[in-house]
Amino acid sequence: MSKFIPLSIPNFEGNEKKYVNDALDSTFVSTVGSYVNKFEKALAQYLLVPNVAVCQSGTSALHLALIEAGIGQGDVVLVPPLTFIAAVNPVKYQSAIPVFIDCDDSFCIDPIKLRSFCEEECHWDGNQLSYQGKAVKAMIVVHVFGNMADMNAIMEIAHTYNLKVIEDATEALGTQYTEGEYKGKFAGTIGDFGCYSFNGNKIITTGGGGAITSNDPQKVDHIRFLSTQAKTDPVFYVHDEVGYNYRMTNLQAALGVAQLEELPEFVLRKQHNYDMYKQYLQDCEYASLKEFRPGTSSNKWFYSIEINRNVIKAPMKEIIQRIREKGIETRAIWGLINEQRPYRNEITYKITKASYYAERILNIPSSTQITEEDIFYVSEEIKGLFEEMRND
Ligand SMILES: *Cc1c(COP(=O)(O)O)cnc(C)c1O
Repeated sequence: MSKFIPLSIPNFEGNEKKYVNDALDSTFVSTVGSYVNKFEKALAQYLLVPNVAVCQSGTSALHLALIEAGIGQGDVVLVPPLTFIAAVNPVKYQSAIPVFIDCDDSFCIDPIKLRSFCEEECHWDGNQLSYQGKAVKAMIVVHVFGNMADMNAIMEIAHTYNLKVIEDATEALGTQYTEGEYKGKFAGTIGDFGCYSFNGNKIITTGGGGAITSNDPQKVDHIRFLSTQAKTDPVFYVHDEVGYNYRMTNLQAALGVAQLEELPEFVLRKQHNYDMYKQYLQDCEYASLKEFRPGTSSNKWFYSIEINRNVIKAPMKEIIQRIREKGIETRAIWGLINEQRPYRNEITYKITKASYYAERILNIPSSTQITEEDIFYVSEEIKGLFEEMRND
């Protein structure tokens, strides 16, 4: 069999089968069942927060957070250009208006541009920020690839301008500050709302799934209520609000409980594998491994190399194809969201870094079960290939 090293695959080395079978035996396969509650409690314990609601996906988590934050038609939400599009789509679900703010070298929102947008482009009446007459109410901060955004600077701006902060921590479960004001705090537990995803490619998976927390535990209760069709009476069908069918199922949660048991080990492996790549790629002349924010312990979910475009000029598609011929799966960073068809006419603010990185960043294999031998192989093949390609 020829070699194939996947980009990122799930890992079921623990109690997954046991708990899923147990959930099946209980006949509770839908949104009621003991694993749903267990998973919420275990997540809350892990994240050091009082209340977590689990739901169907990271996307539905973000949607519920926006609803709970009071975002509605015509409100402005500040969003990132360089991430997975699901971080921004829920803004449209609410008929709100996204404004794209550039990233910095962490790929996360640039607090300097964020501040200058608020100061120079918006009007502040001492209570409400507005942009072209529309209320600017919130921002979605994505911790890209598990790298913590600059939350100190971001929260300061949010407090100055009365903006709600919705953290998209879908890629960053397990990332936390080790220094400073937020020491010990996990990504997703600093802003007003934190959203997580358990899709198949994330650090832990439930097949599909998500979770939400908030600095206000009552808001989490209300989110859970909205996610279960907003049923007011436990027996009779009384509904005082428009609800959603967004609750996680017991089958998914059974998988989640098992996966969460392994999360600390997965984080350690991702960190260790990153260190090995760093060692093997340090003499790579035409690409460099991107760092994670100092003062944090990142889950190092995805590893990124930045390609030196002064030397390697081939289109990203060709680079990926040629690495694929060596049996290695890699992936280009996303295309900019503001360039996708539904967002082409939206407002953007000083987008330069996002475009720069869109052409240069390649993600390399990062599964928790990757071997040192494979990490060495990937590193050597990439170095060799770039050496060949510099002459093209
Ligand atoms: C995965 C992801 C989401 C969406 O999560 P799903 O569970 O797939 O709905 C949202 N934002 C970012 C940045 C993601 O990586």
